[in-house]
Amino acid sequence: MTLPLAAWQQLRDRERPSYGQSSDHPVAAVFRCADALLSIDAVFGQDTGALFDISTWGHVVDKSVLGSLEYAVEILKVPLIVVLGHDDCPAMHAALRAWEHAELPGGSMRRVVEHALASVVRRGTAADSVQSVAAAHIVETGVALMQRSPMLSRRVDDRTCGIVSATVSSTDGEVHVHAAFGAVDESVSKVFELV
Ligand SMILES: [Zn+2]
Repeated sequence: MTLPLAAWQQLRDRERPSYGQSSDHPVAAVFRCADALLSIDAVFGQDTGALFDISTWGHVVDKSVLGSLEYAVEILKVPLIVVLGHDDCPAMHAALRAWEHAELPGGSMRRVVEHALASVVRRGTAADSVQSVAAAHIVETGVALMQRSPMLSRRVDDRTCGIVSATVSSTDGEVHVHAAFGAVDESVSKVFELV
């Protein structure tokens, strides 16, 4: 069984395990923003099937997301969840517009923006740029997984699963780690470049 920190190092270093990775046992689950238009396998240099991929607009947590992640962690024994935001995110731009101009999108898109705004309030950080909104929301998304799922929280507490909240740059591939929970919290490098 892969340990959380080893799984993170595999993604961080873009390593493909020499022993092969069974497609029904992914090394990590990636919960990401749906508008990123990126190949998650390419971001972390993994083969198809090595990552359990879930995306929603603005990486908002709902019961379907929790059910998918609980399946990955409990049934597939995935030792790591990466919550992945990205630079220049349209969802975070929408949240910043809402913050600055009280301009909310209609329909269910509004709920996504409200989630991001709530993240800013909970973090208590200045919402003075799309980057600061994205940083607050990516950390709070990781926290929300533990707060809303006792199953995931228990796995983080007993250190059989870690959570990394990070953002990726689409221009240079650099990944910034904004927070880490569980067995990966001793990970020293907060910024690394995917080459
Ligand atoms: Zn996005």
